[in-house]
Amino acid sequence: MKVIANYIHGELLAPESGKYIDNVNPSTGEVYGKIPASNAFDVDRAVAAAKSAFAAWSTLPAAERSGILVRIADLIGEHRAMLAEAEAIDNGKPVSLAMQMDIPRAEDNMRFFGTAILHWSSEAHIMEERAINYTNRKPIGVVGCISPWNLPLYLFTWKIAPALAAGNCVVAKPSELTPMTAFLFSKICIEAGLPAGVLNIVHGLGSEAGDAIVNHSGIKAISFTGGTITGARIASVAAPKFKKLSLELGGKNPFIVFDDCNFEKMLRTALRAAFTNQGQICLCGSRVLVQRGIFDRFVEAFVKKVSEMKVGDPMLESTKTGAVVSEAHMQKVLSYIELAQTEGGTVLCGGKRVIVDGACANGFFIEPTVIVGLGPDCRTNREEIFGPVVTIQSFETEEEALALANATEYGLAASLWTADVTRAHRFSASLESGIVWVNTWLLRDLRTPFGGVKHSGVGREGGWEALRFFTEPQNVCIDLTA
Ligand code: NAD
Repeated sequence: MKVIANYIHGELLAPESGKYIDNVNPSTGEVYGKIPASNAFDVDRAVAAAKSAFAAWSTLPAAERSGILVRIADLIGEHRAMLAEAEAIDNGKPVSLAMQMDIPRAEDNMRFFGTAILHWSSEAHIMEERAINYTNRKPIGVVGCISPWNLPLYLFTWKIAPALAAGNCVVAKPSELTPMTAFLFSKICIEAGLPAGVLNIVHGLGSEAGDAIVNHSGIKAISFTGGTITGARIASVAAPKFKKLSLELGGKNPFIVFDDCNFEKMLRTALRAAFTNQGQICLCGSRVLVQRGIFDRFVEAFVKKVSEMKVGDPMLESTKTGAVVSEAHMQKVLSYIELAQTEGGTVLCGGKRVIVDGACANGFFIEPTVIVGLGPDCRTNREEIFGPVVTIQSFETEEEALALANATEYGLAASLWTADVTRAHRFSASLESGIVWVNTWLLRDLRTPFGGVKHSGVGREGGWEALRFFTEPQNVCIDLTA
């Protein structure tokens, strides 16, 4: 049994209540660990530790903060295989994916913000001979970072790195479904010599530990990634307390294919966009929209490839599709597949739970599923399923494609496939979406603004946007007249 601990004031501590939550391995269905069921008391302790560390950390020269963050990045790199294995056990994702994507990206996040801070500067506004204004960007103080289960260490570090780089102290909570790599990360921080209290990691349920972070008067900003309903709840608690808020929420992203695209590249990418991480990425292209001229060709080729995808033990190097994160999530995804059929959709392939032989017989596996025959108004095409399920719809004109693409409350990412460069610009500008990939998907440059519009969130992460979020701008105006 792997019992993990909170990381508070540089120490690994048991929760004050002595209570723990089961940690389930989704590919076997077995309880393999215990997670602290932290409460407001533990959060209070973490905030006190963060407060006590703030004066020293926020005034440490940027080069020294940078040195520690880069050391953490190096250690993530050194422990890559161990972290990837832990991520795969905790989350159900293929260990090969964690090795290639999750853990390298966590390392990149730490290195990117650890070095970005060396190049960070602020603006000056000069009023000819009358006055000079400059913007003093100060760290906020103690900030809260709350992250989801789908890309555990990847998204945890995506928040923590800019917060720490900018000189804040952090109280962070990973998802209770996938806490293991955050726990291992706390050991890495100790090994890297991060001063006590600068980062504090509190494990536990969202409704208890998470809520205590959002409510705490000592926490001045909340950076949250997770579901839209949770985001709304957090906003309702944090807004009246005038906390700074960054909300990265759900998506229902269109993958829009015009007749003139590079078919083979598009097909390969459509498969990746639909099913990477079992479809559990907020950026997944779960609504495929295909122009009439190549619709039949696409459906045939896509369904053939999807039918060949093998679902299996995430710990095998060869596995490309693993388990979904929990039994409850598996039931939710399966219920959406049922709903799609009640709404008149046809399942072209997949649609069922998979029983994997051997040790994974009780795991939470779902066949990659393709559904056609549904219009833009049904729930299947409007609500986030967050699993290995895609729908395909057809369109004739650019106007129809745009109407379909924008026909959801969400607006996180879109992937657009066309060889017509003027159409690419025109169409991108009309999409209600924070990110548009043209002839690609999930190609990330960490300097770009990341986030969504509509119900996909408020604010942007990435690059200077993240450092702006984690600092409070102060205008200093100096009169130059005698
Ligand atoms: P979730 O909202 O259930 O949980 C996210 C985190 O919030 C967890 O750590 C949870 O414990 C915590 N939490 C839950 N209730 C809380 C409360 N009342 N107060 C404070 N914290 C609380 O989301 P999830 O199921 O873990 O993640 C899946 C969702 O995340 C999907 O909707 C997905 O689209 C979204 N997501 C968005 C992005 C993005 O960048 N926009 C990235 C990844 C995932």
